[in-house]
Amino acid sequence: MIERGEGVWLYDAEGNAYIDGNSSIWTNIHGHCHPKINAAVAEQLGKIAHSSFLGFGHALAGQLAEKLCGHFAGTDLQRVFYSDDGSTAVECAMKMALQYHMQNEASGGMVDGVAQRVEFVAFSNAYHGDTLGAASLGGVEAFFSRFRGLGAKVHFVKNMQELRAMEDTNKLAGVVIEPLVQGVNEIHVWPEGMLRELRAWTQEQGVFLILDEVMTGFGRTGTMFACQQEEVVPDFLCLAKGLTGGYLPMAATLVRERVYEGFLGSAERAFYYGHSYTANPLGCAAALASLELFDEEQTLVGVKEKAVCMAYFLTALASECALIHEVRRCGMVAGVELRAPNGEKFPRERRVGEAVCMAARKYGLLTRPILDTIVFMPPLSITRDELGTAVNALKMAIQEVMTEAER
Ligand SMILES: *Cc1c(COP(=O)(O)O)cnc(C)c1O
Repeated sequence: MIERGEGVWLYDAEGNAYIDGNSSIWTNIHGHCHPKINAAVAEQLGKIAHSSFLGFGHALAGQLAEKLCGHFAGTDLQRVFYSDDGSTAVECAMKMALQYHMQNEASGGMVDGVAQRVEFVAFSNAYHGDTLGAASLGGVEAFFSRFRGLGAKVHFVKNMQELRAMEDTNKLAGVVIEPLVQGVNEIHVWPEGMLRELRAWTQEQGVFLILDEVMTGFGRTGTMFACQQEEVVPDFLCLAKGLTGGYLPMAATLVRERVYEGFLGSAERAFYYGHSYTANPLGCAAALASLELFDEEQTLVGVKEKAVCMAYFLTALASECALIHEVRRCGMVAGVELRAPNGEKFPRERRVGEAVCMAARKYGLLTRPILDTIVFMPPLSITRDELGTAVNALKMAIQEVMTEAER
């Protein structure tokens, strides 16, 4: 039972302190209870907690949209659609892509009343959220296999080679990917240059590129957005988790001007999609404060240094622990995969990853495994000392479980 948080620390109901090694499921950026974000939310609370964004507006939503698009200045990724969470950010990108193709002849349109571009490509073991549309893009069998065929029609490919080998691309509305690194797929890092290749391919094929930066966004991989590392501008950019610094549920789908224009002209062409809490003012206030903190605290400069530090600590850890098969890392996102010393995966039912995370609690670290990969993704505000403390806790936990495993 978690009672409160401060900085990277979480405190349970008994007063025990833990480092939030999972950034409260990949949402927290600047630490918990940050005075600036607290003050921004409190100030907004003194005005109004929520009013509908349907047919109305408010200044914070506009300011936030401007700030977000400012990171893509000089490009036409300049329109923002708000929703509630990562799943809905992806969901509305999918629906927007579908509707765009339906009502714009040049991009497929309708033939005899039948929409032409209605299918998607996603990557093996992808994770894009749990609502039915986003779930149909999901490749993690345990979560999604029972819902196969009930959502959008999706082709799964492992890599660019398989994508290029696809025969019929005329039915594709878009390709969806978690750029640079897949989170839920046990922190799987894509080969360098892959995103740029994917951008070129989607452009050639007239297919939208939908980037799901729900996890990678807001500095996690070392740049504000992962796509910036390969100088890629997507057609849709889905943002959520870290958008509010991890304070409130809120999402944004950035789209290109061309996409926006595809919905103008008449009421029938509008995008009818709105959630009750769209552009929630408290969320906007938190998000704006979080983005200001990136400047004030030079967060991205810190991330670059800390990522190096994290790599150093984790490499040292791997050299000391026979159970560590591989450390996969991208910026401040890391996965530590555990296997038996002979290199074989542990039987699932041993739940070794879970055992290590349970043991780590005793040493003051909270995180979650994905199978036998321990995810280490602390708030970007973590200090070097705290990084050391966290990695040390992980080491003790692995050693404890290893001793048991040898028995
Ligand atoms: C968490 C996540 C989502 C879903 O976000 P929710 O806010 O949990 O709906 C989508 N895509 C990626 C890459 C994620 O990590």
